[in-house]
Amino acid sequence: MTDLFKKYLLADHSTRVQVVKLGHAWRTGMAHQSYPESVEKLLGELVSAAVLLASNIKFDGALVLQLQGDGPVALIVVECTTDLSIRATVSLREGQEIPEDGTLQSLLNPNGNGRFIVVLDPDREKTNMQPYQGVVPLEGNTVAGVLESYMRGSEQLDTRLWLASNPEYSSGLLLQRLPRHGGSAHVDDASADETWARVSHLASTIKYDELLALDADELVHRLFWQEDLVAYEPQEVRWHCPCNRERVGNMLRTLGREEIEDLLSERESIEVLCNFCGKPYHFDAVDCAGLFADGAGASAEGKPSIH
Ligand SMILES: [Zn+2]
Repeated sequence: MTDLFKKYLLADHSTRVQVVKLGHAWRTGMAHQSYPESVEKLLGELVSAAVLLASNIKFDGALVLQLQGDGPVALIVVECTTDLSIRATVSLREGQEIPEDGTLQSLLNPNGNGRFIVVLDPDREKTNMQPYQGVVPLEGNTVAGVLESYMRGSEQLDTRLWLASNPEYSSGLLLQRLPRHGGSAHVDDASADETWARVSHLASTIKYDELLALDADELVHRLFWQEDLVAYEPQEVRWHCPCNRERVGNMLRTLGREEIEDLLSERESIEVLCNFCGKPYHFDAVDCAGLFADGAGASAEGKPSIH
């Protein structure tokens, strides 16, 4: 089973274990993209990280994770809503070669000006919470390393992450030590320290390929079969870009009839690529005439590139 997020809790309530495994959703997201392999791998890891962290947000809205770079990769951004709907995009610097064995640091931080940005974006219609943005230097050799150091510094939560991606799957495992709550039945600090050290060690035995190959329950059983865990119902994760033909049509309409006719004089149809998911939309002369026939105006959908 893929495209699922699953949460488990250690029976003593000291530690949360979360697993995500994306298959179809991940391939859907990449269907119209052709990122270099080393870049797609970083994106896939950031995608699973976003699902794991968004699932813990207590309000309706979205989590946006951005890796901003000063090297061949300018930006990798993933948005995951609190109902686990994802979209993501990458922006590469023109004219800069992307090495096949490129790493997080060589692709995004060769000059040390890379940044990791976390945005919590509450849904204004459902909550009056303010958006929050955290910015930290791009420290760490892996996406998981960057996030762990952010969580330690900004959230003051002991969090361990294991992330993996290939062209078929994007998956991740998160361990988080939960704060103590007064009054509830819980274990003492020394015992909680020991539990955290033990489960962290167990989780760290996971191999990159195993993380990609195993389902959530298989993975958790393989690592924690001796632990007493409570499992929650899995949640579905989907890839969703809000682009559609109507929105793209509205964007073309805002260019004006003259500009559209100019574009059509040079080609048979206009191809518009959604600049988030890369999905192509084609408008030929008849489609374009239809855009202006009803005379309706509407707002633009981003700034897609026209070919
Ligand atoms: Zn799109």
